[in-house]
Amino acid sequence: MEVTLLNWTPDPENTVAAAARLCYSPSSIAELCTEMQGVTAAKLIARLMEMGHLSPIEHASFTFGVEGVSRALTHQLVRHRLASYSQKSQRYVDESNFGYVIPPGIRDNPRARQEYLAVMEQIRRGYALLAATAEKEDARYLLPNACQTSIIVTMNCRSLLNFFERRCCARAQWEIQKLAWKMLALVKEQAPTIFARAGARCDMDGTCPEGAMSCGRWQTGKNADV
Ligand SMILES: Cc1cc2nc3c(=O)[nH]c(=O)nc-3n(C[C@H](O)[C@H](O)[C@H](O)COP(=O)(O)OP(=O)(O)OC[C@H]3O[C@@H](n4cnc5c(N)ncnc54)[C@H](O)[C@@H]3O)c2cc1C
Repeated sequence: MEVTLLNWTPDPENTVAAAARLCYSPSSIAELCTEMQGVTAAKLIARLMEMGHLSPIEHASFTFGVEGVSRALTHQLVRHRLASYSQKSQRYVDESNFGYVIPPGIRDNPRARQEYLAVMEQIRRGYALLAATAEKEDARYLLPNACQTSIIVTMNCRSLLNFFERRCCARAQWEIQKLAWKMLALVKEQAPTIFARAGARCDMDGTCPEGAMSCGRWQTGKNADV
């Protein structure tokens, strides 16, 4: 899995702080943008985050390039509606040599791995046969959830916090969990105050909504091991 931060709102925290301050200040926007630098911005953002006053953080967005992930992952990812996506198309791109993700539970089980690889080879052969005689958009019906894909994703900070809350959780599926932790590490470098308490619910406020299905991490205060 390759995750790259392609682009983001310049000065994300100063932009958010200026937007938040605007609500309560008689200053001009130009004045606010100069006033709201560095420490002042960080203090104000920390307060916003504490109060749950989150609309100002919608002004900063991040764009990620994600490669070498499965279609099973992207199917879950695109359920997050407050985001923009562009994904490699199986209608237009030939998939005769498709790469595929091997889940660790199969990779580390020699018998399951052998069967998995054999089935993938069968699918490859079947796809190549069909793609030679039918449209790619129809041949793709043979392709597995494991098929590797590339996707570009843009989310604002508020949507990212929601994404991390759901997908950094140990109850989330392993592959999207891994993606979420990688995305979080990247945005933390650019907006450390906004994402200071980001992660699963237990990272955010020390609680867990999972009840009997909880992994128990919220009681240990340790980070997930993904
Ligand atoms: C562990 C786990 C298991 C899951 N299992 C399943 C499953 O078995 N089946 C399944 O179908 N999905 C499943 N999901 C997907 C889940 O139900 C959500 O669709 C997904 O996590 C996107 O979350 P979201 O709606 O909060 O995000 P977004 O779509 O980005 O929405 C963000 C927030 O905006 C608000 N919002 C967005 N759209 C609306 C709207 N139309 N009306 C009102 N408010 C809105 C909500 O507050 C929402 O939380 C699972 C998710 C997780 C994390």
